[in-house]
Amino acid sequence: ATGSDENDVVIIGGGPGGYVAAIKAAQLGLKTTCIEKRGTLGGTCLNVGCIPSKWCMRDLAVAAILVSLSFPLFLGFRFVNCGEELKFDNALLHSSHMYHEAKNSFAHHGIKVSSVEVDVPAMLAQKDKAVGNLTKGIEGLFKKNKVNYVKGYGKFLSPSEVSVDTIDGGNTTVKGKHIIVATGSDVKSLPGITIDEERIVSSTGALSLKEVPKRLIVIGAGYIGLEMGSVWGRLGSEVIVVEFAADIVPSMDGEVRKQFQRSLEKQKMKFMLKTKVVSVDTTGSGVKLTLEPAAGGEQTTLEADVVLVSAGRTPFTAGLQLEKIGAETDKIGRILVNERFATNVPGVYAIGDVIPGPMLAHKAEEDGVACVEYIAGKEGHVDYDLVPGVVYTHPEVASVGKTEEQVKTLGVEYRVGKFPLLANSRAKAIDDAEGLVKIIAEKESDKILGVHIMAPNAGELIHEAALALAYGASSEDIARTCHAHPTMSEALKEAAMATFDKPIHI
Ligand code: FAD
Repeated sequence: ATGSDENDVVIIGGGPGGYVAAIKAAQLGLKTTCIEKRGTLGGTCLNVGCIPSKWCMRDLAVAAILVSLSFPLFLGFRFVNCGEELKFDNALLHSSHMYHEAKNSFAHHGIKVSSVEVDVPAMLAQKDKAVGNLTKGIEGLFKKNKVNYVKGYGKFLSPSEVSVDTIDGGNTTVKGKHIIVATGSDVKSLPGITIDEERIVSSTGALSLKEVPKRLIVIGAGYIGLEMGSVWGRLGSEVIVVEFAADIVPSMDGEVRKQFQRSLEKQKMKFMLKTKVVSVDTTGSGVKLTLEPAAGGEQTTLEADVVLVSAGRTPFTAGLQLEKIGAETDKIGRILVNERFATNVPGVYAIGDVIPGPMLAHKAEEDGVACVEYIAGKEGHVDYDLVPGVVYTHPEVASVGKTEEQVKTLGVEYRVGKFPLLANSRAKAIDDAEGLVKIIAEKESDKILGVHIMAPNAGELIHEAALALAYGASSEDIARTCHAHPTMSEALKEAAMATFDKPIHI
């Protein structure tokens, strides 16, 4: 399908937006080629984002069972002096969580371990192996669905032709009736700070630190900074988060955010909010940061072994020659599209992180599916008000729909129902009861407007709420739906009861 063969659809970028669009297009019977420069599929998400960062974070319960059954698995930490070395097969948020639990919570559950050590290279090797398996899995899906895969850097020659410098040193031209740009995003650097991926790292470098830094300074209190800060904090780093804004994760519901910040502080993460990084000096053995209050004032200095720059991401269109076809972008470089993902250039579309909207893998996937559905002459649909957001710390924080602040700004009359995890039997039983469920519903109709959950596994619990919002459900609908006992989902039901009436268990 390369060379002079014309495709129905050509996709530039094999991340969650691009590869999902490619598979869906092929499933819809369209002749499809996907071009990816990295040499592996899965994009930022699979190679240096969602997946490698989540490695290392899973339930204490699983770890406890595996320990008690002496399953010979490997996770990158060792129980020493236990007679034999137990190995756990799992990969950073998950592994670091298990290490932290083994060190700090096992004894509380009656599991005695005399000493626990982290083996960072083993942990990282396991993460890399898992990522490798998953990226190869997508190649398998491409073969199964007959998606043609071209490994190389794509650039526009015309609205229907892409020149590809292939990774083996060649060049080919790929033609398509429809071309979808799914080139994603890249790390945003800060003025005056050069990322060397050794002492000053982006999230990519933070996923591959060779040893646990004594002190890690995270610049930016967004979800990526907090997740990576959690990983290294659990493995033993002193973590200080410096943030220009007054709050961490600004998009989060204010009440939930306060509880979340307290929880992270209990885990020894320190916050310097309303603080600006003025300069970074790497001439010594560590890194010296000069800081000043965001509103101006006296400067202070802070030293660290490693600094993680986590100040957001920027759309990636370098080398694509968008100017050659005249595709319009906004001031920050995002490609402008209409509601059918079409750019101003006929036949050229864009999806995922490279267009406006939440920079999330699942949003990119939804874009991809809807975009090819439109191309195939069907109707596509993405409801951007219902894209769930999850911070994969422990506890997790997940939300869907509007925050209380947003509802207030809209001037809508509303009710709030809350239920603390401390009153949920399952959470109490596993001794993991920090958090709450908060539901916001329209006062008159009881229609749910937003749901915010801080809980272990909140990222799973949120989907019942997402479905409820998608179907325009009321809080009474959730409250009157029978929920299995004992589950954490019952906290959602009780919060729903608290919204339209009264909860039982508090
Ligand atoms: P990308 O995944 O960035 O893929 C774009 C691909 O296009 C890349 O592989 C790139 O090599 C390729 N490309 C670019 N230009 C060209 C070209 N000219 N020719 C050929 N190929 C090209 N999101 C979540 O939903 N959940 C999470 O838990 C989560 N965690 C994250 C953790 C971290 C540390 C990071 C950095 C991100 C995380 N994200 C998460 C965000 C998520 O990774 C992105 O939203 C998602 O990958 C966007 O998908 P995409 O397909 O638009 O772009």
